Amino acid sequence: MVRGHPCRRRGTTIHWLLAVMVLSPLGVGALRAWSMQRGSDSRFFQAREAMVREVLADMAATAGETGRGTLSAAVLEAMRRVPRHRFVADTLIEVAYENRPLPIGYGQTISQPFIVALMTELLDLPENAKVLEIGTGSGYQAAVLAHVAKEVYSVEILAPLGRSAETRLKALGYTNVHVKIDDGYYGWKEHAPFDGILVTAAAPHIPPPLLQQLKPGAKLVIPVGPPFLTQFLTVVHKSEDGTMTTRQVLPVAFVPLTRSGGRP
Ligand code: SAH
Repeated sequence: MVRGHPCRRRGTTIHWLLAVMVLSPLGVGALRAWSMQRGSDSRFFQAREAMVREVLADMAATAGETGRGTLSAAVLEAMRRVPRHRFVADTLIEVAYENRPLPIGYGQTISQPFIVALMTELLDLPENAKVLEIGTGSGYQAAVLAHVAKEVYSVEILAPLGRSAETRLKALGYTNVHVKIDDGYYGWKEHAPFDGILVTAAAPHIPPPLLQQLKPGAKLVIPVGPPFLTQFLTVVHKSEDGTMTTRQVLPVAFVPLTRSGGRP
């Protein structure tokens, strides 16, 4: 989809369409809605491009710790395309493309765009990947994953957040994201094994069910550490023979991974 350059080459068709639409009262409403949509899309397009530049600057600045100085073409394209302003409340729409986390209700946050990009990058997904996300939240990270993977399975423990993310993702046309309301500590066994697993809430330890549901050769990216204190973004690599290697990448601050039934 080309944003900001609406249909210039289809002038004749557009003129006929406009004539028909302007003649009907319903058409006037539709035309207004269409032009508002176009206008806001191009306005947000500039902001999104600026956000991506900041993400790339953060990637370069943290290369020493992360081992990645930039984004792969697929992740870059995903960051350039997902409309972050559609994942936040109307009251936050003007700051939707700032490179920082934002509240999404229920004490939860949509992650900082740099962290979303970095975590996606660190997964090193193969072609046609099936990926699991724990912590759907707003659905933004799931949407980014939807651009780089074939199927995205996302588990959210808070039903109202999960349901509204599901509705939002459908409305935006993300047909390859599947949302389940459950305790993500246990992963999503029916669809395992996964080519990558991403946890977007901080866990005091790495949940063993997630390690089991990881394909040999695949990676799990998870913030590990105590709630409300500094955690470490950690990459676990499961080798072909099943051996796990872990690497601490960056200090981060995530909301805690909560447990159903108050389990630790
Ligand atoms: N990925 C989200 C941000 C998530 S914030 C986004 O892009 O917007 C962390 C999310 O993890 C919250 O929505 C929280 O409710 C959810 N969460 C916390 N513990 C969980 C658990 N055990 N299982 C599934 N989701 C969990």
